[in-house]
Amino acid sequence: MVAAITMTTGMGSPAPAGDAASRVEAYLDGIRQEPGRLREFALDLPKGADIHAHLSGSVPTRGLLGSAMRDGLCLDTTSFAASAPPCRAGQRPARDVATDTSFGDDVMRAWSMQSFTPGGESGHDHFFATFGKFGAAAAHKGEMLAAFASQAAAENEFALEVMLSRQPGAIGELAKKVGSDPDPARLRDRLLAGGAMATIVKAARADADADLKEMRATLRCDKEGADPGCELPLRFILQVTRTNAPEVVFAQMLLGFELAEADQRYAGLNLVAPEDDPVALRDYRLHMRMLGYLRGVYSKAHIALHAGELVPGIAPAGDLRFHIGEAVRTGKAERVGHGVDITGEDGSGALLAEMARKHVLVEIALTSNCQILRVCGDRHPFAAYRRAGVPVTLVTDDAGIEHTDLTSEYTRAITTYGLRYADVKSMARAALDHGFLQGRSLWRGADDYVPAPECAGTPLGGTAPPAACKALLKDSPKASAEWNQEAAFTAFEDRYDG
Ligand SMILES: [Zn+2]
Repeated sequence: MVAAITMTTGMGSPAPAGDAASRVEAYLDGIRQEPGRLREFALDLPKGADIHAHLSGSVPTRGLLGSAMRDGLCLDTTSFAASAPPCRAGQRPARDVATDTSFGDDVMRAWSMQSFTPGGESGHDHFFATFGKFGAAAAHKGEMLAAFASQAAAENEFALEVMLSRQPGAIGELAKKVGSDPDPARLRDRLLAGGAMATIVKAARADADADLKEMRATLRCDKEGADPGCELPLRFILQVTRTNAPEVVFAQMLLGFELAEADQRYAGLNLVAPEDDPVALRDYRLHMRMLGYLRGVYSKAHIALHAGELVPGIAPAGDLRFHIGEAVRTGKAERVGHGVDITGEDGSGALLAEMARKHVLVEIALTSNCQILRVCGDRHPFAAYRRAGVPVTLVTDDAGIEHTDLTSEYTRAITTYGLRYADVKSMARAALDHGFLQGRSLWRGADDYVPAPECAGTPLGGTAPPAACKALLKDSPKASAEWNQEAAFTAFEDRYDG
């Protein structure tokens, strides 16, 4: 699955194919056992984008705690759950963490996977419980987006794709009012009738305006010394909570599809909340059929699905045999998040081949899977996907809660699976190419990394592409981000010159 790599030198003159890459390979081989230098290498490495990141889970826990202090929130002294003031019995003001370090440490542990060791509570349960505990502190989405964007730029990423929820209260009320209907077409008509859904779409677009305004102000985007995160194109993926009643899930999905038609900042949707929740399990096939129906009605929204984030013991054995296949075949997932239980799926060999053929990318979340599911190292199907030619890229999932970042995911993958430079370069390219930025790809075909005809024969990422290539870059946010990454690859590889 690793394509031949065409290299150019920094001066734009062609170098013998593979030369620059071989020097980087040799360097990586020399330092792969040295954590400090490997971290430096992976930090500098262009890494595409973190295409599976939940906004509230991605913010460093310290940042959430800072918000809680600033907003005067109260913390339960047993569960450490945050809530609005005034503080009642059994609660302490969040700002107490400034003077009481041991209280601060307790909150950090309750709100994240810091120092977590499975005991009475599993990693899975501790992880999912954090959202309810810090939820009240995750109110400033613009500031959270600013932190996400700044970090992404600092880690050499070239686009932002982030999952978040919008208007869940309004959607829930509408769904309740409309009720359920076994016929998805009729249910859709009823949800769209009367203009209530249009009002929610408008409100979600206004939410995006407000968040981006706050983000840009936080990053000083229109001022001298703007944060480099300002330059990265940003797309939202709407979260649909799969533990809701079916009519609410359908209404949230509909919002995702409608939003993508109306506003290109909303690029797609994803189902969230524990896949092993009893309601999520009960309705799994129903949800896939809903998506399949809506996919046939709308053309713009992209679908990425958490599927197969399961291990024996947390879900009935039967559920470990079909989730990924259903997501790809019925739910029309273009990308699968996690896909941990692939080898236990019915006909897993055929499914892997189908995913490779359809270019369904798997978002690989190594730290998340190790912490939440205890699927680490050789137990992870990362190598199985690669062997089958299924496109993969590395993602963080919830970098804040997990105390990781995309750089750490790359170092972890390089160390654990002995990856070569060509492998990581491929994954960085895949992140952008399978990302949901609109427009044509810089590449000729899916996963081949041969330039589109307009940009063939010119240094990738160069400053003076021919007119046809320039036109492609201008028309396509995706190709433009890919071009920027290729420029960064050239600069990165030049550092190993001689
Ligand atoms: Zn996730």
